[in-house]
Amino acid sequence: MNRVYNFSAGPSALPEDVLKKAQEQMLCYGESGMSVMEMSHRSKDYEEIINSAEALFRELMNIPDNYKVLFLQGGASSQFAMIPMNLCKNGKADYVITGMWAKKAAAEASKYLTVNKVASSDDKTFSYIPELDASKFDKDADYFHITQNNTIYGTRFSKVPETNGVPIVADFSSCILSEECDVTKYGLIYAGAQKNLGPAGLTVVIIREDLIKEPIKGTPTMFTYSIHADNGSMYNTPPTYAIYIFKLVLEWLKAKGGVKEIEKVNIAKAKLLYDFLDNSSMFKATVSGADRSLMNIPFITGNDELDAKFVKESKAAGFVNLKGHRSVGGMRASIYNAMTFEGVQALVNFMKDFEAKNK
Ligand SMILES: *Cc1c(COP(=O)(O)O)cnc(C)c1O
Repeated sequence: MNRVYNFSAGPSALPEDVLKKAQEQMLCYGESGMSVMEMSHRSKDYEEIINSAEALFRELMNIPDNYKVLFLQGGASSQFAMIPMNLCKNGKADYVITGMWAKKAAAEASKYLTVNKVASSDDKTFSYIPELDASKFDKDADYFHITQNNTIYGTRFSKVPETNGVPIVADFSSCILSEECDVTKYGLIYAGAQKNLGPAGLTVVIIREDLIKEPIKGTPTMFTYSIHADNGSMYNTPPTYAIYIFKLVLEWLKAKGGVKEIEKVNIAKAKLLYDFLDNSSMFKATVSGADRSLMNIPFITGNDELDAKFVKESKAAGFVNLKGHRSVGGMRASIYNAMTFEGVQALVNFMKDFEAKNK
């Protein structure tokens, strides 16, 4: 069986070189005589793995020394609660509602503090990033939450909001390491690993040190940032194998020239597909303008039967997971870092062919 072109939104395709390296080291890692999965997280070999994962991540994202990197579990969804529980001081936070994940983040936060929804694009099925009106921002908000890239609807913040000192907390689950990012503009960045960083099971948090405070009363130990920060993400057993694959992904990315170079590839990939969609008489992108995501590209034909036929035939031809999210229908191509330019080119060729045959 050949490997397919996998356009899954998450968990997503990993670079083939990473999988091969993991395969090579599966039974015996270095001189350890065992698999990474079988190692104590406190062993010397593992310590080397987790330390170099963090060092590489800091290097690739250019993370300043006054930020901690935490390797946690529970997915981005656990961060929806952990963020308000730990950052709550004045008891309120601003949220921009740009999709289902933003809605979920806001709903979870509202259990712990007052959520001020400063803007929403709900009126047009989240197909754009709303203009922000700073007069609606709360100066005393504990933080300002955005979903940097909206995985389901295919939009992204192309500029960081100006919040006058209120720390920005951003969900980077589906765009981390896809384009250059100035970490100093954010107070906290979080991401589930399964889209652009590695396998499911690892959640990465980058947090400015001054935001690591006493959490609200009753916060579980495992939901306390300071506990994980003080223990080097080793308060309990971290997701050891997921962190090891994450390290291999970072090594792969560094060898490719880092974020600067992958950004160029990502822009070229997205342009190829958007240009095709904008010129097609059958397919149409659901998002237009500057807010278009580089990672998740939803599209439709406008005819449900034709959409279904396309999904079925593309799958048979080796292009899988192109069905759109159940909440929006149509199609979606997720083209994270591991998706090659050739993969997108092959998809576009298939779409051209499909269009010609189904006119
Ligand atoms: C996938 C995704 C989530 C959910 O992540 P889990 O790790 O499954 O909790 C949250 N936010 C965004 C933007 C996502 O893409």
